[in-house]
Amino acid sequence: MKIGIVTDMEGLAGVDDWEQCYAADDDHPAYRHGLTQLAADTNATVAGCFDAGATEVVVWDGHGRNRQAAFTRVALDPRATLRRLIPAAPLVLEGLDAGTAGVLMVGQHAMAGTLHGFLDHTQCPKEICRYLINGAEHGEMSQFALHAGAFGVPLLHVSGDEALCAEAQRLFPWVATTATKRGTGWATCELYPVDAVRAAIRRDVATAIRNRAGARPWTQPMPADVTVEYTWSEFADRLAAVPGVQRLHARAVAWKIPDPRYIYNWPGPVWAPLA
Ligand SMILES: [Zn+2]
Repeated sequence: MKIGIVTDMEGLAGVDDWEQCYAADDDHPAYRHGLTQLAADTNATVAGCFDAGATEVVVWDGHGRNRQAAFTRVALDPRATLRRLIPAAPLVLEGLDAGTAGVLMVGQHAMAGTLHGFLDHTQCPKEICRYLINGAEHGEMSQFALHAGAFGVPLLHVSGDEALCAEAQRLFPWVATTATKRGTGWATCELYPVDAVRAAIRRDVATAIRNRAGARPWTQPMPADVTVEYTWSEFADRLAAVPGVQRLHARAVAWKIPDPRYIYNWPGPVWAPLA
C-alpha cells in the first residue's frame, strides 16, 4: 500500500512566526527551527502510515521557499522516500499514480481570506485575496485534493491549525484532521503542546488510512474555471496580457484548465507552475 504526503510549513506544530517559514537566510535560527518542526510533524505522519500497514510512503517538499531542499538539512524517516515536484505542464508529483491508496498533508494552512487562519494564503501571501474553482472559494488543500483526484486518489488526512481543520471538515467531510494550534490573527497563534500534537498526528493518520473505504477522490467538472482575485490591480495586469485569460475586474482574472492536473499551473505560453 502506497501513501503520498505533501508537506508545508505554516501549519506545523511548533511554528508560530513568519520568519520560521520564510526567512531569506538558510541559516537564520528561526528558519532552522521551522525545518526541525517540519521533520518532526512529517516523521510522525510517516510513522502513522507504517502503523496502518503502508509498504511505501512518498514525500513531496511542498513549501516553495524550501526549494525542495528541506530534507537535505533535516532527516526524513528513512522508511519514506523523498520525491520531486517537477515543473512541467501539467505539474508532476513524482510517484503519484493510480496505485496510490491515499494522500495526506502536513503543516498545511487555510485558504486566503480565512478569519484567524495562521498565515492563511493561497499561493502568494499578501498578493491573492480570493481563489475560486468553478465559482467556489478554495485554497491549497483543494488544489492538492483535485490533483490527486485526477488519479483516483483520495485525500485522507490533514494537519494544520484549527482554521485549516474547519476548512477540511466543510469541504471534504471524509478527510480526518489533527489540529496543531489555534490562529489568533494573521501572523499570531497559540501553539498546542508539540509532543501531544505529534502523538495525535501519528494516531489519527493511522486511523484515517485504516478507515479509507469511506474516502473519495475529489473531482470537478472539466474544463474548470479558475478565478484569482488579487489584492492590487497591477498583479492582475500581468496575467490579463496572457491569451485566454479573462479580465473580470481591476483586480480579478479567470482562466480555464482542461484537466485537474493543471490546477497548479498558471496560464502563459508554457503554463508555468507558480513557485
Ligand atoms: Zn508554505
